[in-house]
Amino acid sequence: MLTDKLPRVRLAHLPTPLQEMPRLARALGGPRLFVKRDDQTGLATGGNKARKLEFSVGEALRGGADTLVTLGAVQSNHARQTAAAAALCGLRCILVLRGQAPSAVTGNLLLDHLLGAQVLFSGTRTREEVAEQVLADERAAGRRPYLVPVGASDEFGAPGFVAAIEEVGAQLEAEGLRPDRIVLATSSFGTQAGMCAAAKALRFEAQIAGIAIDGTQAEVQAGVADIGNRTLRRLGLEPSLTPREVVAYDGYLGAGYAVLGEPEKEAISLAARYEGILLDPVYTGRAMAGLVDLIRKREVGKDETILFWHTGGSAALHAYADELLARP
Ligand SMILES: *Cc1c(COP(=O)(O)O)cnc(C)c1O
Repeated sequence: MLTDKLPRVRLAHLPTPLQEMPRLARALGGPRLFVKRDDQTGLATGGNKARKLEFSVGEALRGGADTLVTLGAVQSNHARQTAAAAALCGLRCILVLRGQAPSAVTGNLLLDHLLGAQVLFSGTRTREEVAEQVLADERAAGRRPYLVPVGASDEFGAPGFVAAIEEVGAQLEAEGLRPDRIVLATSSFGTQAGMCAAAKALRFEAQIAGIAIDGTQAEVQAGVADIGNRTLRRLGLEPSLTPREVVAYDGYLGAGYAVLGEPEKEAISLAARYEGILLDPVYTGRAMAGLVDLIRKREVGKDETILFWHTGGSAALHAYADELLARP
């Protein structure tokens, strides 16, 4: 394994299942569809951050940390999984979430509290400013905080998705499958970066198509190449990723980050009703909406085989109950 020499703690249930979605494929009149169930990683429900945190927390423990500090949105899946990882490893956890405390404590935010994290809101300051202050205060109190960046998206977290490509590569080979593309939600770039780094190193041939959640194509390409190259370097490999070769679609940004629109609602409904699979309002709903559109536009051909990477997030569904049930 490419990641064998890196510090790692086991947090996730791996390998996650690889399943076909025949009813959804038929409903779309489209390509053969498979799904990689990273919503089933465990770690206080599931999601892609579990894979990254295995390596981020491995690095934190190697350096003697006693406290994890991280940042996110109010309904951050990453914050919730970091809180769970801290609990599992006997570490303290401080979460810095954007903006004001909402009136309802629900979804991921509820789980953050149950998992014992200290939850701070940045208010009118930036999350980064508040996190810097937290780190300084912790150090002054004689503790050893480790800052996990947004989404655990750096060269310390992305190796989780290098290992994930090795994992799915073995599953695909065992099933005799050769997907044309992997389609995934991309936001803080670490997931796609780890995948692209692995694809380089292993000559994995499927296109890795990121559906941008909250960035332009150019931002995703630059961010993925940067973290991907830092990851390759950390693995002792040539940092040869270029922004141009990173595939990113930015046509599905809707009204902005975490704003649920009709395309996301339709995608959530399709996956639920045809496959019994729960997508989420912020990431996988938007990514699936993008895939559905690419199929309808025939940009993804009927004869292709597509692997949709389910990155999790269903813990946020409850925070969107009213909007999800509202009629257009
Ligand atoms: C964080 C997250 C993503 C995006 O992953 P990045 O590595 O930040 O690009 C996708 N889906 C879900 C459910 C997430 O929580």
